[in-house]
Amino acid sequence: MLKPNSIPVSEPEINVGIILPEDNITKLVLGLPQAPQYNLQIDGKIVEVQQGQVLELLFEKNKLQIKAGKNNFQAAHEIKISTQEHVVPQKQSGIKVSSVIAGRGFHWQKYIDVFLPDNLIFRVFEDRLILINQLLLEHYVMCVATSEMGAACPAALIEAQTIAARSFLLANVEQKHRSMEMDICNDDCCQRYQGTTFLTKQSISGALNSSGQVLIYKNKICDARYSKSCGGMMETFGHVWPGHEEDYLQAIPDAKSNLTGVQTPLNKEENFQNWVNTIPETFCSPHIIPETDLKKYLGSVDEEGAYFRWEITVSQQELLENIANFTTLEATAITKLNITKRGLSGRATKLDIHYSDKKGQLKIYHVDSEYNIRRYLAKQFLYSSAIIIRPENLIDKVPQKFTFAGAGWGHGVGLCQIGALGMSIKGYTTSDIVYHYYPGSTLSKIY
Ligand SMILES: [Zn+2]
Ligand SMILES: [Zn+2]
Repeated sequence: MLKPNSIPVSEPEINVGIILPEDNITKLVLGLPQAPQYNLQIDGKIVEVQQGQVLELLFEKNKLQIKAGKNNFQAAHEIKISTQEHVVPQKQSGIKVSSVIAGRGFHWQKYIDVFLPDNLIFRVFEDRLILINQLLLEHYVMCVATSEMGAACPAALIEAQTIAARSFLLANVEQKHRSMEMDICNDDCCQRYQGTTFLTKQSISGALNSSGQVLIYKNKICDARYSKSCGGMMETFGHVWPGHEEDYLQAIPDAKSNLTGVQTPLNKEENFQNWVNTIPETFCSPHIIPETDLKKYLGSVDEEGAYFRWEITVSQQELLENIANFTTLEATAITKLNITKRGLSGRATKLDIHYSDKKGQLKIYHVDSEYNIRRYLAKQFLYSSAIIIRPENLIDKVPQKFTFAGAGWGHGVGLCQIGALGMSIKGYTTSDIVYHYYPGSTLSKIY
């Protein structure tokens, strides 16, 4: 595991959560590769296992069981499958694990087979099965760069993305799953990771070429956040994760210089209205890459069309159902949605939901994060909270639907993946890209 608040001097090993307790998985099929040689450790006791063997893992009555051919082993605490040979991963190298969850809790949640490099650790945690992939950090980052982006991406983008992923991981700020001895999980909750399943030559060389390189600010590794599209203006850290700001995560235009004709700050309602209704020329705007071409570069899981400027309409009924899913609100009608605070990219960070309850009384519910605003307002999770809200078809003062006109995809803090793609296509280098998105930081090789 990573040590919090320290800069490693050699390549560390990290623990990635692949199966979490809430996945409620009780059965798995594992395929060992022909090489390298793996060992089984049943509660610490080493057992030899054949190369290429198919293993069946069962979790029953709080015990772990593993079937290896005719042999059947049982463990009370832990089964570890490990190898001493840490070879550089290739596409679909490592252990094949059937049916793990991707898109946990999102509308696109599904089961996929993954190939995981290095070691696997199965444990019982609070009466549920968990799976940890223990692997070298560089193996991890090479898998993450492609899990997030397609293989057609230019090298500078892959390297910039890899440096951001490595820095974010080593800054190790969130530690959402530390009680399970996981540094990070495999999904959008932390960082999407699907092992070597979709590994490409570009991402292997992206990691090898930038090995050990991180972004440093004031002697600390940068908490290098990133999202799909900032919408033309980056957001500050504190508007999305309140509590503090990071100097290298600022609200600056995603462009070479200041944008002409754009009135700022975008947290001013009038300025933001103009912003959403125009298409400024930025690194992430369709001026550089037409949005129909983005499929070549972006992961295929959630490609749905327009990201820079978009519009969706949600019915009163859908909104009611969605809000009921996530809150204890007993609303019979949503009468008004009122944004009360915006960040400097225009992202809504506070929203008042005006509604009438079962007794017909008018009440207000406060939503106080961009994440929850995106979650509550649309079943499919709004692309971003940088939105203008238009109530439509009013009957007895109740809108029958709401249209959201928005900018960008994701929280917009730090590296904008579509913008970084635009920069790399325009010929900017890896360091140009990371210094643009993390101003004031320094690129440094720590091991
Ligand atoms: Zn997580
Ligand atoms: Zn951008």
